[in-house]
Amino acid sequence: MENVSGGTGGDGVFNPNSHDIREIGAAIREIEDVTSLKAILDLEKSGENRASAIVLIESRIKKFSEKVEEGEIDVKSMTIAGIANAIRGIESADELRGLLAQEEGGENRVAVKKQIQNKIESIEGVEILEPIEYIAPEEKYPYLNHPTADKKHVRALKEGKYEDMWVYCETQRGELIDVSREMLGKARELMDKYNQDYKAKEQVVAVLIGEDIARLADECIGHGADIVIYTEHSSLSRFIHTAYTKVFCDMSRSRPKWKKYDEPRYVIFPATNNGRDLSAQVQAELDSGLASDCSDLYIENIVITNPVKTGMPGAKKNFERVLHMKRPDFSGFEYSTILCLDNPHREFHPQGASVIPRSFPVKELESNRKGEVFSHEMEIEDGWVDVAIVGNEEVETGVDLTEYEVIVCMGRGIGKDPTGGIDLGLELVNMFDNAALGITRGIVTSSYKFEGRVEQYAKEERQIGETGQWIKPKLYIGLGVSGAIQHKTGMVESEIIVAI
Ligand SMILES: Cc1cc2nc3c(=O)[nH]c(=O)nc-3n(C[C@H](O)[C@H](O)[C@H](O)COP(=O)(O)OP(=O)(O)OC[C@H]3O[C@@H](n4cnc5c(N)ncnc54)[C@H](O)[C@@H]3O)c2cc1C
Repeated sequence: MENVSGGTGGDGVFNPNSHDIREIGAAIREIEDVTSLKAILDLEKSGENRASAIVLIESRIKKFSEKVEEGEIDVKSMTIAGIANAIRGIESADELRGLLAQEEGGENRVAVKKQIQNKIESIEGVEILEPIEYIAPEEKYPYLNHPTADKKHVRALKEGKYEDMWVYCETQRGELIDVSREMLGKARELMDKYNQDYKAKEQVVAVLIGEDIARLADECIGHGADIVIYTEHSSLSRFIHTAYTKVFCDMSRSRPKWKKYDEPRYVIFPATNNGRDLSAQVQAELDSGLASDCSDLYIENIVITNPVKTGMPGAKKNFERVLHMKRPDFSGFEYSTILCLDNPHREFHPQGASVIPRSFPVKELESNRKGEVFSHEMEIEDGWVDVAIVGNEEVETGVDLTEYEVIVCMGRGIGKDPTGGIDLGLELVNMFDNAALGITRGIVTSSYKFEGRVEQYAKEERQIGETGQWIKPKLYIGLGVSGAIQHKTGMVESEIIVAI
């Protein structure tokens, strides 16, 4: 915590009075104890009673009120998402029934009751009914186009064997990019828990494709991989869609000595430009699905009632070892959890996701971790390398927003008068010594007509967020910015955030 002078209230509690809002923010940043935070709030209310300080402290109280310790869940004061997180770790059906009774006697929310009920069923199990007669989609709906029905290259698996979590480790300029390290750490954590929960011994497999790439194997192991599989070839020196897809799919389906299964159980890719490109095609080629741009992953059993998945209306079926892939929707104001589940007559594996960079921390490199490294040899056909790279030139990086202490960020709130909006933003920028103007992607992709003199400020080089610049200024001022998750990813570490 930052050192904030100015004394404490009784019992050593930080006294917000006589501190400005920034100092209060710094002081409470590491306090997670709701009782202490409430004491600070009381001191503020009985002292200077500033609205901004009260909002700041209350928002922190709200945040940690939902992080309830085991056995202390009070559903009535929690949001639906908070309850979903809290019950994830509960394995006692009786404890869950207690929470269900609490909810029924309180707010009685349908969504909450369903969540708790589903969790009880996933613990206790349910009867699996006989599947109904299967009619292939092309027979059932002959009048529709079925472009994938004759995908001869896809080995339709029935009762296939699936194991392990594969991580596509993207590189740039011959080095792993951070999101590759982040995913390896997350995969390690997921598979350690998986092996414990299911008494299994499945592994994390890092996939490297490129030229002179095997030298990165140790680093992959140090970040959590048990196995590294790589293909090196001079024509793979840069990402080429067709060639990389062919290699990844061949690795997935092949049966070398170390791989005693048909296809990976799970695969994760980075949600970068290349990772998005590769993941979509690989999952289509493997006849499975993809949850793109995920920000969280966990593995759990789940009870499903959808007849497409159970094979019989009204039936419930317990699916085991399901990768739950959480992704922001509606500009990040809602989260969906995507599941890739088998149908009664068709298996969908690998369960696959692409992961937004910086969703997970990079775990410390363990240089003494042990793992195995295998080369996946295959011919790279000329036709797969359908792009010839004749040279390359570094694009100028443009404005570096990370250099400034203050960022004024304009969003689509300026829609009624885009040029006037940018002018207003620039006026504010000029009031600080070390400030610059940033924009949201909403501005970049808009069809606003800017007058020539401000056009330069509406270009992608000033975009802040997941697919733009990642900034940590002392002060971030968002004007007409809704705060979509993809935007927040790039500015949430700002010291002070002002949103208008
Ligand atoms: C894969 C992917 C990657 C993305 N990457 C990024 C990224 O890197 N960066 C990014 O920014 N976005 C990104 N986005 C887009 C993101 O989801 C949002 O659509 C975008 O951030 C919205 O921009 P906005 O806040 O300007 O617009 P909006 O969401 O339309 O918000 C405008 C806000 O202005 C307010 N407003 C209206 N009038 C006024 C007024 N007169 N005064 C004050 N406020 C007003 C409105 O109430 C609203 O809250 C990405 C999306 C995807 C799918």
